[in-house]
Amino acid sequence: QRGQTAQWGVRGTDVGTTSIRCHVYDKEAKIRGSCTSKVVALYPEVGHVEMDPEALWKSFITVVKGAVQDAGVQMRQIEALGISTQRGTFTTWDRKTGVPFHNFISWQDQRAADLVKSWNRSCTMKGIHGVMKMLYFLTRQKRLLAASLIVFSTQHVTFRLVWALTHYKQVRQAVAEGNCCFGTIDTWLLFKLTKGMFGAHVNLIVNTISYLNIKFVCGFLCSLVSLPLSIFPKVENTSHDFGSTDPSIFGVPIPIMSCGDCIWMADQQAAMFGECCFDVGDVKITMGTGTFMDINTGSKPHTSVTGLYPLVGWKIGPEVVYLAEGNAADTGKAIKWAQELELFSDVRETSAMAYSVSDSDGVCFVPSFSGLQAPLNDPKACASLMGLKPSTTKSHLVRAILESVAFRNKQLFETMLRETHIPITKIRVDGGVSSNDFIMQLTADLFGRKVARPQHHEMSCLGAAFVAGLGVGFWRTREELKKLQSTGEVFLPKDAHKEGAGCQNREYIHTFQSWERALRRSMNWYS
Ligand code: ADP
Repeated sequence: QRGQTAQWGVRGTDVGTTSIRCHVYDKEAKIRGSCTSKVVALYPEVGHVEMDPEALWKSFITVVKGAVQDAGVQMRQIEALGISTQRGTFTTWDRKTGVPFHNFISWQDQRAADLVKSWNRSCTMKGIHGVMKMLYFLTRQKRLLAASLIVFSTQHVTFRLVWALTHYKQVRQAVAEGNCCFGTIDTWLLFKLTKGMFGAHVNLIVNTISYLNIKFVCGFLCSLVSLPLSIFPKVENTSHDFGSTDPSIFGVPIPIMSCGDCIWMADQQAAMFGECCFDVGDVKITMGTGTFMDINTGSKPHTSVTGLYPLVGWKIGPEVVYLAEGNAADTGKAIKWAQELELFSDVRETSAMAYSVSDSDGVCFVPSFSGLQAPLNDPKACASLMGLKPSTTKSHLVRAILESVAFRNKQLFETMLRETHIPITKIRVDGGVSSNDFIMQLTADLFGRKVARPQHHEMSCLGAAFVAGLGVGFWRTREELKKLQSTGEVFLPKDAHKEGAGCQNREYIHTFQSWERALRRSMNWYS
C-alpha cells in the first residue's frame, strides 16, 4: 500500500485559464516542488476562445510529473493527487475512439451571445418569467422570484453547447448514433487518465453548478432547448470510486476516488478550501483571468435575484457546504490586454504606475471584453475607455484599469451583502492579480473591511491538495489546516473609522459614480 510506505507529500494541480500548475506540498503545506505550463488559448474568430484538448492533456501530465521531479522524489512516494479545474469549459468526443470532435470551448467564449440574447428576449422566457412572478405574488417564495428573473449568459455551458450541436455536423451525427460524450475539463482528464474506461464518463457534483442547476439543466432546460441527455456524463458525488489511473501514465496506478488518493475539485471551490473558508460568512476573492467572489452560505443554497450563483462548495461525508458566487470575467484579461498595447512591459510595474498619479485624470475603464456579469448581467456590454484627454498619460490609463477591477469587486461585494444578509467573518484574496498592492488597498478601502492576502496566491492547488490530503489522512483535521495557513499581508481600509464601517471611501465617491455612468453607457452596446 502506497499509504504505508510514502507519507511524503501531496500534489495539488490546477488547470487554470492561463496556466496549468502543480505543486508538491509537505506536511507543513510548504511547496517542495513545482511545475507550470502555459495554456495556449486559441482565438479562431472574434469572440471565440478555444483550447486544444490533446495539448491540454499532454501539458497536464508534463506538469504533474515535472513537479514530482522538481521535488526530487519518486511518484510512488506521493500520498495523494488533488486536481482542480476551471469550470464551464467543455468539449465533445467520440465515445469509441476518444477523439475530440472540436476544441474546448472556453467559459470566456462569446459565440453564443446572439443565441443567449434571443432566448432572454423570447416569448418562452417571458412566459416563464410571467408565470413565476405570478406564483411568487401568490406564495411569496423567494425562489420563485429568483426563477422569474433568470437570464441566460454565455458563461453557462448550455447555449455554447447548443451552438456546437448546430454548427458541427459530426457532433450531431455522433449524438444520433449514441456515440457522443460531452465533458468539462475534469471529465476529459478522467476519461484520459483511465484510458477511456467508460465508467469514467462522469463528473463530480462540485464541478456542476449546483444541485439546483443539475435538476434544472438536466430536466427542464435540456427539454426547453433540445439538448440530448444521452451525451452528458453521469454526475457522481464525492464518495464515488472512479477506479484507477492507467499504470502507464504515472508508472504506478493511482486510485481515483474522493476519499482515496486522487481528488477532483472545481477551481473556485478548491480555492475556497485552500483559503480555509470553512465557516458561514467566510469570503474569498480569486482574481486571475476573471474575478470569482464566493461566500460560504453553510448548509443552505442561496437563492439569488441578481445573478449570484448558488454552488455546492464540497460534499464530504454527510456534510454539504454551499457557496454563493459572483464573478467578473475580465480582470487579469484586461491587464494583459493593456500589456499587449505596451502600456507597460511587466504586470508587476502596474501598481507603482497607478500610485505615481493622484487619480485617473477622469478616465474610466469598463472591463467588459466578455460582457458584464452580476449584478448587471449584460452579455452585450462593450469594454470601453471614456474621458480621454490630451493630458492623459499611460499611468492614468493603467490606474483607470486597476481601479475598474476594484470597482467590480465593490459591486460584487455589495450585491453579496444585500442578497445574502450573512455577516461577513473574513475576506481572503488569491489569484495572480491579488499580487497587485494598488488593487488590494483600493478593494479594502471600498469595502471598508480588512482584506487578507496569503503568501502564496495559488489557492486552487492548495485547496485540491488539502482535500486530497484529508482524504488519505496526510492531514487529520480542518483545524490543523487552518494552523498551516500562511498569514501573508493584511490590507486595512484607509477611510473607515472602524472595521466594517461600510463602503464609504469619500475620495472615491465621485470617481465611482463617473465609472458607473461609463458602465451604463457601455451596456447593451452590441444589441
Ligand atoms: P488563471 O488562474 O485565471 O490562469 P492566475 O491566477 O494565474 O490566472 O493570474 C494570472 C493573471 O494575473 C494574469 O492575467 C496576469 O496578468 C495577472 N497578474 C499577475 N501578477 C499581477 C500583478 N502584480 N498586477 C496585476 N496583474 C497581475
